[in-house]
Amino acid sequence: MPQPVTYRGMALIVPDNDTEWKEFYEHARAHKLVVRKCKACGLMRYPALHACPWCMDLGWTWQELSGKGTIYSYEIVHHAIQPGFKDATPYCTVLVEMDEQRGTPTPDESLRIIGNLVKPDLGFEDVAKAAIGKRVRVVFQDLADHMALPQFTLSGEPDQGRVWRLGG
Ligand SMILES: [Zn+2]
Repeated sequence: MPQPVTYRGMALIVPDNDTEWKEFYEHARAHKLVVRKCKACGLMRYPALHACPWCMDLGWTWQELSGKGTIYSYEIVHHAIQPGFKDATPYCTVLVEMDEQRGTPTPDESLRIIGNLVKPDLGFEDVAKAAIGKRVRVVFQDLADHMALPQFTLSGEPDQGRVWRLGG
């Protein structure tokens, strides 16, 4: 068993035999955002599932992404479920549609990754700045020699499509 990694006072443990997530976090520690790419149909997927959800093939390779995307949806957390997040509320989690594979394999399905919306220095971003359509880029929060968490920060690029935020 690996040593637990501490994040906001909580122990994060990825078992040695959980290669799907162990390798994902190791790549993140090298500041690379990766997803699995199917060897048969070429589509990428997240989370790092064992089989391709589109064609069921078991062959895959890691594919590095640009880390750029657009907020597809978001949620503002007012009541922390874990005590470690209590002092962070309210904070925002975002579902990011990555630039790679937009509108594929269907207009409604694409490559989307969840993370916290943070400032470039990794502190939580002002929730009033969150909006669907805002552009973001990945940033990496190093937790240990073998693990980092991908998070997202506003990139300042022009908005993508119609911008919408809770409460107007
Ligand atoms: Zn496939």
